[in-house]
Amino acid sequence: MGVSGSKRPKAHLPSSRVSHSLQDEELICAVCKGILWQPVRCGNCQRSFCDQCLQTRISKKEPCGNTSLPCVAQNCPETITEKLSQLRIPCRYKQYGCPSCARYSRYDQLLKHEENCAYELITCSVCMAKVLKLNSDEHNQKCPLAIITCDECCAYYTRQDASLHTAAVCCQTLATNKIVVKYINVCVGSLITQKTDVIVVNALSCGMLESVLAAGGNSVRDSYTTESESSSAESVLSVVADGQLASKKIYFVEWRPGSNSTVLRRSIRKLFSETITEAVNEGYQSISFPAIGCGGFGCSPALMAEIFVTEVCHQLAAHPISILFVIESTEENIYKELQTQIGVIKNARMKIVSTEVGSGTIEVENGEIAQQKMDVITVSASSSILTKAIIQAAGDEFYTFATKNRSPNPPEKPHWFRRWIEKLHYKPQLIIKAGLRLFPYLMAILFNLSQYFYYGDDFLNCLTREADSRDPDKYFTRLTQASQIFHTILATL
Ligand SMILES: [Zn+2]
Ligand SMILES: [Zn+2]
Ligand SMILES: [Zn+2]
Ligand SMILES: [Zn+2]
Ligand SMILES: [Zn+2]
Ligand SMILES: [Zn+2]
Repeated sequence: MGVSGSKRPKAHLPSSRVSHSLQDEELICAVCKGILWQPVRCGNCQRSFCDQCLQTRISKKEPCGNTSLPCVAQNCPETITEKLSQLRIPCRYKQYGCPSCARYSRYDQLLKHEENCAYELITCSVCMAKVLKLNSDEHNQKCPLAIITCDECCAYYTRQDASLHTAAVCCQTLATNKIVVKYINVCVGSLITQKTDVIVVNALSCGMLESVLAAGGNSVRDSYTTESESSSAESVLSVVADGQLASKKIYFVEWRPGSNSTVLRRSIRKLFSETITEAVNEGYQSISFPAIGCGGFGCSPALMAEIFVTEVCHQLAAHPISILFVIESTEENIYKELQTQIGVIKNARMKIVSTEVGSGTIEVENGEIAQQKMDVITVSASSSILTKAIIQAAGDEFYTFATKNRSPNPPEKPHWFRRWIEKLHYKPQLIIKAGLRLFPYLMAILFNLSQYFYYGDDFLNCLTREADSRDPDKYFTRLTQASQIFHTILATL
């Protein structure tokens, strides 16, 4: 029984999974040579196949036996299904699993077990690590590359960088967002009539692509076709607008939703980053986006609005450009959600707790934006950008407060000796070292003093007599002789 076709497909159930003593030629698929899986029989050649294997044969129009006709799928005879149901097969993930997973499942229950087996090795879509299915929840809780969004300032960062998002950074982001969110606007209407310099069109959203191409007329359609065929590597296709289109340029992008919110956020970030950078590089001042993902793709409006506003804020922090979200009249939900998100950032207000600008600290507390109160943030006043951002974020009330409190005359410098002593105060090891070094001298001085107090003038006289008895000339003569002897020794060596 030969089967045409050069490459044998991979068997769903390779015969090696079942002990050889139990195998029967009847139970082997004619295509993949594995154990029959969901078996079917060809009504003409009477051979048995896996359902999938026969479907592939039929779709490839491979002939049945010596005829030129394709095989005809029929139910498999009961004798074969009976034999199959007696097979006992271990789970395909037994190599990763606990001993009980190596138990033999019945043929009929194998699929159900493998679908639910906790020992399947799956790949984390974010960090590409291989994790057991039963550990996947645990992994998601600590995946180092998972994106975390700050509840306070909506900034995102990977879990491994979470420690870099300090309270000061959070406060700064909040302030920056509050400044740049003024460049974001939302309107109900159509991209076609928007007078912004650039409109962005998702080429994978068929309805939108078609309506823009129709409005643009032949010149837009032609240049879109040539562009999309020639520069396939470019992710943003830039086409000059024409016809009824009110904008100057159209950027065609290809965007599809991600499998989870992390991938979704990444894809939106990439889209905004590429289009906004391109627009800024081309010298444009304004750009319109549709409510990407909220039409046919069916993404959650609340999530998309949050991602749109956060990501656009991040782009605006680097590129000054006016951004307009154009919402179709049927997409009321996303319109409301975008307004809410913008409002959240615009109304974020920092409540001042205390300030000491002169000595270098400002303490602010973040109010209103979140229900829970954040810890007090201490910000160095030497960081002028940060201070400016916080002052802007906190409003005029704080600005006057901060400037009023900045003392006109800096405090006088203390005396140098005082500063020196203060410095020493912070260096206990230095003091200990100096103490040990000076100890022998102190002992000698104390010894002589004690002698003086005990013997009085006798001690001094004794010292004088001893000094008088010495003959310096004799001493130096001896010393010269000694050095001569030393030189002689060195010379002989
Ligand atoms: Zn097969
Ligand atoms: Zn056949
Ligand atoms: Zn197990
Ligand atoms: Zn299993
Ligand atoms: Zn991961
Ligand atoms: Zn934050």
